[in-house]
Amino acid sequence: MTSDAGVVVIGAGIAGVALARRLGELGVPALVVGEEEHPPYNRVLLAEVLAGRYAPEVIALPGTATAPVRARVTGIDRAARRVRCADGTEIGYGTLVLATGSNPVLPPLRGLFGADHRLPEGVHAFRTMDDCLGLARAVRPGARAVVVGGGLLGVSAARALAARGARVVLAQQSERLMERQLDPVSSGLVRRHLTGLGVEVHTETRVRDVRCAGGAVRSVELADGYRLDTDLVVLACGVRPRTGLAEEAGLAVRTGILVDDELRTSDPYIRAIGDCAEHDGTVYGLAAPALEQAAVLATLLADGDAAVRYTGTRALTRLTLTGDGLPDADVPPADTGTDAIPRGFLDLAAFGDPETRPGDDVVQLADATRGTYRKVVVREDRVVGGVLVGELGTVGALARAWEAAEPLPDGGPLLHLLTNDGGS
Ligand SMILES: Cc1cc2nc3c(=O)[nH]c(=O)nc-3n(C[C@H](O)[C@H](O)[C@H](O)COP(=O)(O)OP(=O)(O)OC[C@H]3O[C@@H](n4cnc5c(N)ncnc54)[C@H](O)[C@@H]3O)c2cc1C
Repeated sequence: MTSDAGVVVIGAGIAGVALARRLGELGVPALVVGEEEHPPYNRVLLAEVLAGRYAPEVIALPGTATAPVRARVTGIDRAARRVRCADGTEIGYGTLVLATGSNPVLPPLRGLFGADHRLPEGVHAFRTMDDCLGLARAVRPGARAVVVGGGLLGVSAARALAARGARVVLAQQSERLMERQLDPVSSGLVRRHLTGLGVEVHTETRVRDVRCAGGAVRSVELADGYRLDTDLVVLACGVRPRTGLAEEAGLAVRTGILVDDELRTSDPYIRAIGDCAEHDGTVYGLAAPALEQAAVLATLLADGDAAVRYTGTRALTRLTLTGDGLPDADVPPADTGTDAIPRGFLDLAAFGDPETRPGDDVVQLADATRGTYRKVVVREDRVVGGVLVGELGTVGALARAWEAAEPLPDGGPLLHLLTNDGGS
């Protein structure tokens, strides 16, 4: 197999497919090689498939001119500018783009791997469509499930399993949920939301052991010796950039594959984008930067003289936690009890650093009755972070202020930031 020594992209995920699509629009053909069996899909929406809210085909990514080649690339011969695939084929490239994404981090739990180095039956990672369909097949109403990890992935998995009728325990090692994105108040709202869906949340709890019988998981043991019987375990302990190919090929790798402002690795013929890439000390692990990098790289590859550069993404995490498996339009209105938060769904957006340092200006609005919470942190006249829960009317204006990273105009009170939607 050859690609006429054109652009070859390894990885048919969000970044790789967006790049190939944009290149196609610019008249540059690209060959995408992806190992997954399913047509390219939007990984961000996997929890919706697990919750039974969307069928797998609903989250398919828009197609590219040429369908991806299904193969796993196992090596890069930089001197010959060829890649080798597991099925023995070789593909020549003029420019190679690594868009290999991330691997789930598997925590060092005793009993996690059998002699065959496979996860026991009932233990699942949560990264791919196969993980998701495997979990969906295994979960039954009333099944017991333990989710290990309380970040974005663990919270998404827990509410999806609860929507399927499972009895879910979420074990989070640190003191609060989604600590990377949320401050203590908003994290508490997410916890109450999950609890309202029947999820039992344990923070400052470490799982240390997975107990199996007959090759299938039976229980997990917590660090304090407490045992939780379970039918399913979901490992949601974060991700690590998938850099194996790059390392074996001798490319510079730190946490991710190092790239410059032209998304170029230490080999001028090889670029990297998306979760696998590290730009200016940052590995994003989020969809928006992956898409922005793909757009910049498409322009650069279509026109070698283009002045465009990638200078970083100020990414906003937006998440709708639905708990009832219903489409948005059918979500019931919020409860109105005093301590209520919307039980069926919880809409939140977080960006930057929502924690406060001495000297920061903080604007905060909380409405316990409606279960809404809004906070924005301003440091040296610039918006540096914020979080909105339940009331996202100002998200557009805030996101623009955050992305611009410009000093705020003098005058209006800071409260304006949380009450003026700027027409968005
Ligand atoms: C459940 C879940 C929820 C998420 N929610 C959010 C969210 O709300 N917001 C957000 O911004 N981000 C979210 N993310 C993260 C987001 O999905 C990633 O940032 C994004 O998918 C990165 O895109 P990518 O193309 O770089 O990598 P990926 O989507 O991981 O794609 C990489 C592809 O490359 C393939 N590949 C790797 N190596 C090879 C090889 N050697 N040969 C062939 N193919 C190969 C992989 O199989 C994979 O298909 C979520 C992730 C998950 C799993």
